[in-house]
Amino acid sequence: MQQALTPTTDRGPYSPPSDWKVLSPSYDPWDPIRSLQRFGRHELTSVELTVTHLCNMRCEHCAVGDSLTMSEAPHLPLDLVFRRLDEVQHLETISMTGGEPTFRLETVRDILLPVLKYARERGVRTQLNSNVTLDFERYELIAPFLDVMHISFNYTQAEDFHQVGFARTGRSVRLETTSKLYERMIDNARRLAAGGLFVSAESMINYRTHDKIADIHRLIAEMGCVRHEVHPMYPSSFASGLPSITREQMLAAVNALLDVRHPDIWMLFGTLPFYACNDNAEEGRLLRRLKEEANVTVRNDPDGRNRVNVNLFSGDVYVTDFAAIPPFGNIRGEKLDDVFAKWQEHPMQQAINCHCPTASCCGPNLLVSDMYYRGVDFTKRQAFP
Ligand code: SF4
Repeated sequence: MQQALTPTTDRGPYSPPSDWKVLSPSYDPWDPIRSLQRFGRHELTSVELTVTHLCNMRCEHCAVGDSLTMSEAPHLPLDLVFRRLDEVQHLETISMTGGEPTFRLETVRDILLPVLKYARERGVRTQLNSNVTLDFERYELIAPFLDVMHISFNYTQAEDFHQVGFARTGRSVRLETTSKLYERMIDNARRLAAGGLFVSAESMINYRTHDKIADIHRLIAEMGCVRHEVHPMYPSSFASGLPSITREQMLAAVNALLDVRHPDIWMLFGTLPFYACNDNAEEGRLLRRLKEEANVTVRNDPDGRNRVNVNLFSGDVYVTDFAAIPPFGNIRGEKLDDVFAKWQEHPMQQAINCHCPTASCCGPNLLVSDMYYRGVDFTKRQAFP
């Protein structure tokens, strides 16, 4: 059941403008079902910008791990980026991702801040994907202009953070060093949340977390996060060599989390491999539960449905991080709406271009369909009543 969270009356320095609609289970502008319902077809409403390939961590599951570097070229001129964003007719959200977008102070000042100010002026919502392990001053600079600080949180203690977050550094990193970063991450998240920023923590359900997801959730609640976002881990990039868990273990983890979750925290599930068109009683029960519980949503997958990703170094435009799909255009020569329109005709998009209004579902993520549903034509399926 989608129910608005109780809006806070305590406004802090990082709260959004008071006349802006509160982000809530009933208002999630990143969900492609909204634009599909509004326009009767998929429209580009979200742009994700890759602002760096640098990062101070090397998580074992990093979905862009193979593209991380030790140095990088200059960014494209921002006036080109703004011109391309200006042309996106129905733009509602901008996300910025990396690497770690705050790794270099210059990126914070010269890229993040101008993009966030552009978005505020245009009434567009923003999200920054960050590990928040660096000095608070960097986050303090951008927090007054940001809508969602999105952090990864898959830990119950500093040792987990050490094992998960530095697994791919290629050298040994001392626990003492990473513990300091762990403490700083928690402290930064707390301070940002206390200042009125919407902090959303994302956890993956994988071989490490599936049986301790409840403890992870408790720590997320203690940090003051407004939302806990939960996705299964899929074998992309660094994660492709990690052990996988069964769908039954995944189903059990989601149920366990729903049993113990904090009732005021918005639980956002994404890229689940369970669909209302599956003839499986247990999955059906879980989907009903997800639909009926207050403050719980299942977000449809934005990749290629309402969102494209722009690499701010090359200008390449991607519709998904799915490895088999190369860039689909480039902002140096094309409008983003045109690149998006090209993708809508692609056979890979067509094969998962289904929509069941009764289930509020608009089809599977490409990786999920490739992993669990090879050869299935979703356009011939229908949600069970
Ligand atoms: S929209 Fe597609 S994936 Fe979702 S329930 Fe319908 S047929 Fe299944």
